[in-house]
Amino acid sequence: MVEKSSILVTGGAGYIGSHACKALAQAGYTPIAYDNLIYGNRWAVKWGPLEIGDTLDRKRLDEVVRTYRPEAVMHFAAYAYVGESVKEPAKYYRNNVAGTLTLLEAMQEHKIGRIVFSSTCSTYGMVEKNPICEDHPQNPINPYGASKLMAERMLKDFDSAYGIRSVSLRYFNAAGADPDGEIGESHEPETHLIPLVLKAALGKIPHISVFGNDYDTPDGTCIRDYIHVTDLADAHILALDYLQAGKNSTSVNLGVSRGHSVSEVIKTAEFVTEKKIPVIITDRRPGDPPLLIAAAEKAKELLGWETRYSDIKTIIRTAWDWHKKAEAVE
Ligand code: UDP
Repeated sequence: MVEKSSILVTGGAGYIGSHACKALAQAGYTPIAYDNLIYGNRWAVKWGPLEIGDTLDRKRLDEVVRTYRPEAVMHFAAYAYVGESVKEPAKYYRNNVAGTLTLLEAMQEHKIGRIVFSSTCSTYGMVEKNPICEDHPQNPINPYGASKLMAERMLKDFDSAYGIRSVSLRYFNAAGADPDGEIGESHEPETHLIPLVLKAALGKIPHISVFGNDYDTPDGTCIRDYIHVTDLADAHILALDYLQAGKNSTSVNLGVSRGHSVSEVIKTAEFVTEKKIPVIITDRRPGDPPLLIAAAEKAKELLGWETRYSDIKTIIRTAWDWHKKAEAVE
C-alpha cells in the first residue's frame, strides 16, 4: 500500500482550515490539523489527526513535524477580527506575524519547502480601483491586514534566502458551508454578515444591523465578492499542486469578480429561508470600503481554478442547511 503523504494544516480545526482538510483527504493526502483550539473546534477535525498546539510553540511544532514528516504546509492559523486587531494590535502581531515566523523557522530547519498561505484582500487597504488585481498597492488600514501583509513579506524573504516556495491566497469574503453538511462556519463571537443574517432568520438574534445605506452604490449598501468556502478549499489543493510541480512563489486573489450588496444578501437569504428577516439600519462600520471586488483571472489561468458553489444562492443555501443543523443539536 502506498502511504499517503501528510500535509501540516495549521488552523485545521477552523472554518476554512477544516474545509481544506476535507479537500486534502479527497485529493489523497493526510491532513494533520495543528490547532490551539482557541477559535477552532474539535468536531471540525474529521479527516486526519488533531495535534493541539500553538504556532508560537516551536518545541511542539518540531515534535509534530518529526512525527508526521509533512511534505508541505497549509497555514490558516491566525486571529481574524478586524475590529479587535485595532484595539489589541499586539495580540495580532504576536500570533499572526511571530507565529508565522516560528512556523517558517521550523520549516527551514526540517527542510519543508512548500507552503500555501491564507492571506486576505485586507492587505490591499484603501482600494484605488475595482476589480482589484494582485499587483494593486498593498497599504493595509488595520493591524489584521498589516499582520497578513507582513507574513506575505516574510514568505518572499524565506524564499530568497532558503528556497521555501509559497502561494499566498488572498481571500475575498469567505462564506457558505460544506455542501455535504459535515462542517460549517461557527465563530464565537460571530461578526460576519451571512451567518448573522441566518441567525436573525432563526430568531437567535432579534435583527440584522445593516452598517450604512448611504454608500455610493446602487442600493446604498456595501458590495462584497462572496466566495464559497469549498471553492476556497479547492484552490488550496491547486496551489499545492502548483508548488509540487516546482513552480515559483506567487500571490493569487480568490474571488469571483462579482459583487453583492448587503441588501441583496438579505433578500436572497429571505428567499432561501422563506422567512422575513428583521433589519435595522445603523451607522457605517469604520474602515468599511463601499466596494471590494476581486480581479479573478490569475487563479483561473495560473492554477486552473473553477468555482463550483460560489453563486450567492448556493452560498446561502449551504450555510442555511448548516445553521439549521447546528440549531437542532444545540
Ligand atoms: N455587515 C453588516 N452588518 C453586519 C455585518 C456585516 O451590514 O452585522 C456588512 C459589512 O459592513 C460589509 C459586509 O456586510 O459591508 C460584509 O461584512 P463581513 O464582516 O461579513 O466581511 P468583511 O467584508 O468585513 O470582511
